[in-house]
Amino acid sequence: MEGKAWHQLGEEQLLEVLNSDIKKGLEPDEASKRLQAQGPNELAEKRGESPLKLLLNQFKDFMVLVLLGATVISGLLGEMLDALTIVAIILINGVLGFYQEYRAERSLRALKELSAPSAKVIRGGEYLQVAARELVAGDVVLLESGDRVPADLRFIECNECSVDEAALTGESVPVVKEAGRIEAKDLPLGDRKNCGYLGTMVTRGTAKGVVTVTGMQTEMGKIADLIQQTEEADTPLQHRLEQLGKILIVVSIILTVVVVLAGILHGQPIYDMFLAGVSLAVAAIPEGLPAIVTIALALGVQRMIKRRAIVRKLPSVETLGCASVICSDKTGTLTQNKMTVTQLWLGGRTIEVTGEGYEPIGSLREAGKGIDAKGDASLRRLTQIAALCNNSDLTQQEKAEESKKRKSGKAEQSDGESLEWRIKGDPTEGALLVLAAKTGLAKSTLQSLYTRVKEFPFDAERKRMSVLVSHQGGKLICTKGAPDLLVGKCSYVLWGDQVVPFTGTLKQKVLSANEGMAKESLRVLGLAFREVKSHEECSSSEQAENGLIFVGLTGMMDPPRKEVKEAIYKCRQAGIKTVMITGDHGMTAEAIAKSLGIMVRGGRVVTGSELSHMSDDDLEKIADDVQVYARVSPEHKLRIVQALQRRGHVVAMTGDGVNDAPAVKAADIGIAMGISGTDVTKEASALVLADDNFSSIVAAVEEGRGIYENIRKFIRYLLASNVGEIMTMFMAMMAGLPLPLVPIQILWVNLVTDGLPAMALGVDQAESDLMQHKPRSAKENIFARRLGWKIISRGILIGVCTLGAFVLALNQGAGHSEQLIHAQTVAFATLVMAQLIHVFDCRSSRSIFHRRLLENKFLVLAVLSSLLLMLAVLYVEPLQPVFKTVPLDLRDWALVVVAAGIPTFAMGIGSVMGTTKNKKGRKITYGGSSAPPTAAR
Ligand code: ATP
Repeated sequence: MEGKAWHQLGEEQLLEVLNSDIKKGLEPDEASKRLQAQGPNELAEKRGESPLKLLLNQFKDFMVLVLLGATVISGLLGEMLDALTIVAIILINGVLGFYQEYRAERSLRALKELSAPSAKVIRGGEYLQVAARELVAGDVVLLESGDRVPADLRFIECNECSVDEAALTGESVPVVKEAGRIEAKDLPLGDRKNCGYLGTMVTRGTAKGVVTVTGMQTEMGKIADLIQQTEEADTPLQHRLEQLGKILIVVSIILTVVVVLAGILHGQPIYDMFLAGVSLAVAAIPEGLPAIVTIALALGVQRMIKRRAIVRKLPSVETLGCASVICSDKTGTLTQNKMTVTQLWLGGRTIEVTGEGYEPIGSLREAGKGIDAKGDASLRRLTQIAALCNNSDLTQQEKAEESKKRKSGKAEQSDGESLEWRIKGDPTEGALLVLAAKTGLAKSTLQSLYTRVKEFPFDAERKRMSVLVSHQGGKLICTKGAPDLLVGKCSYVLWGDQVVPFTGTLKQKVLSANEGMAKESLRVLGLAFREVKSHEECSSSEQAENGLIFVGLTGMMDPPRKEVKEAIYKCRQAGIKTVMITGDHGMTAEAIAKSLGIMVRGGRVVTGSELSHMSDDDLEKIADDVQVYARVSPEHKLRIVQALQRRGHVVAMTGDGVNDAPAVKAADIGIAMGISGTDVTKEASALVLADDNFSSIVAAVEEGRGIYENIRKFIRYLLASNVGEIMTMFMAMMAGLPLPLVPIQILWVNLVTDGLPAMALGVDQAESDLMQHKPRSAKENIFARRLGWKIISRGILIGVCTLGAFVLALNQGAGHSEQLIHAQTVAFATLVMAQLIHVFDCRSSRSIFHRRLLENKFLVLAVLSSLLLMLAVLYVEPLQPVFKTVPLDLRDWALVVVAAGIPTFAMGIGSVMGTTKNKKGRKITYGGSSAPPTAAR
């Protein structure tokens, strides 16, 4: 390179240095060799916390330190058994906490890997999508608007390509890129117009480039330390719970001090009261809460992945449950994006096209009669434009299942039967290639006759695309795009064999043909061309796309996705409104919206041009009534999101193109398409749909609601249990009774009875009517919908019943030598049993009788293990002195079971009676509001 920088090299020299080929790219073998030698194309990341550090962190907790202090004091006072048991409990607690956090961290890391970026390359002459980390120097990369530049590269071809380099240079205006070599040596990065840099974003156009350096050698790599991502922030709920935890610590400590003082005043030994106080404080503080919340979130997120929705930002899991409007693109999200041209319109003639899918077999019929495509000049012109103004490829490939079989050795060489026709690239363009092939015109034949000179890529704003091609010394502009807009760019029309002026009447005919096709749900594209004399006429798209000759219309069918109708129905039941926002024609959109149940009586379609003339206030006024926005440009999407938000909605919004990113970012839940979405939109989004499918959004909303409810369930369980424990001790000390529970028992309850079942509640199945409520308000307090009341009332009841059983046992065994230990054992068993029964109550927002008892296998397992461990503490002789217990007989158990059942069953029966009364009235739902009317299917 003789000291030359990349931007100074000519194309040939560049390819020579990098030992690459612009047409074929690198051979796959060579690419893997280089990957071995150069290492992966990634920035070295700061390492997360090591497992050891995570484990040690568990013992830094304030309450654990208090316990350790208590252990030391017990040891000093000669209570070695107490001290050892407390140490064991601290260790087990620490290991459990470590396991919870480790799992949560691993799930979060796995999520990050799932949304890793990819790149389009040419290798061995084939177009491939590879993981960006596998790129090597010499790889030929293809870029289009919305792509993230996957490594540092030198451009070889640029079509109206602009790149936002703010991440690297801080310059917010996108740089227009050009392919030619630049002489000057020392240029700032921003001026090296023929180079692209890792991490920058293509905002416009398309480009082809050769990778020069990868990973830490890139410009971004050089500043990698500065741009290391900050730590994942807590979700708002986690934050609020953390604050709640702090309040609970203070409350628990105050109550503990009161209990200890009351005990001492009533003559309890100071040492006993000290240990009891420390144990009570430790038990009362729900230190496991943050970890269980993280696990519930992380596991919920994994369930979402199974349902094809990948969460990029954890806080959005909470917001998902609050979504009240879902704004969705049409093509590919509500529909299958499997286009087939079924109708043509050419100078007043309507032609039907037969055949299904991408197989280029079918015929063209006019008024029921077959037509000879080769002898029809205007039809030939139409298919010629369709195939030339096209970036897709139609290929025949082995069926996926055959390829799998062959790889596993179950099938032999592929035959004709096992092949299928596929599209590489945009399905809309693919459908046009299939149409051309049905008339006997192959893209490859055309490509050998016409050379593409320039492309004006499709963009969602212009809604059209053009190419400049040269042919035997002549030059041609071929354009295709939204007919209603294209008509304005045409001065002539091909009518039969004649090119005639495009008069108002003829334009009207084209537009009504367009509307006729749109009403039949067809996606319509207009095609036009003109001859040009020189390149200068085509320096910009505005210049090129003018004075065109309109040729005709193609109408393509794009069937709705089968599962979407059901999902929209589910949304309606869940009080969530679905809005279609599409670049397509209003009538096409309306027809599809009606067939999917989005558009119901009284619904409204608003077009992009109407929106442009509307003030933000006017838009806000009608926003609740509009179900379809058609022919919109990306910037309209942002206004729609903001109008809905001002109406108090929590908005989920999908997007794919680069210009959708601002709206996706502004939405409460920005959703990007995993398949068709651009990197820019994905990076702005909170959720990525692996299959671009609308029903995956609904599944994610459902999971989001379920996760929130599960968090409420275990908060309810943990706090009610803690209130129960504190109340038992508090009331006993106030009443001047002996200690109803010894410290070790309190710690044991905290560890075993509280921990395991709470974790199982975190993965509980959702209640069957989860999607039959209105969405909850984003501002809702976690204790809303009577949760606070339930926690306090059940907690107090558990305390009262435990103490009741204790007092009864104490009186029963009067005169018995082990009278107190026996009564304490009864109290211990009652407290454990009351909590283990109560945990089933926590599964339902109504009562224990509303859920199937054994549905949650983890919970059943957790409860059984807690039960077994309790029995062990009671009946395994060596454990009895440690836990200060005695075996209970049947009469004791009768007392325990009755006392333990009262808190849950008394409330449950009350609630069932209340519901029966209410049945005659309206249905009780979230926040007391009734479910929205269901749609007729
Ligand atoms: P959605 O926004 O719901 O995904 P869409 O895919 O129809 O809808 P766009 O992709 O923005 O929206 O397309 C808008 C219009 O642009 C289409 O109705 C069509 O007329 C035209 N169009 C779409 N794709 C192309 C293309 N590849 N070349 C030229 N014109 C196109």
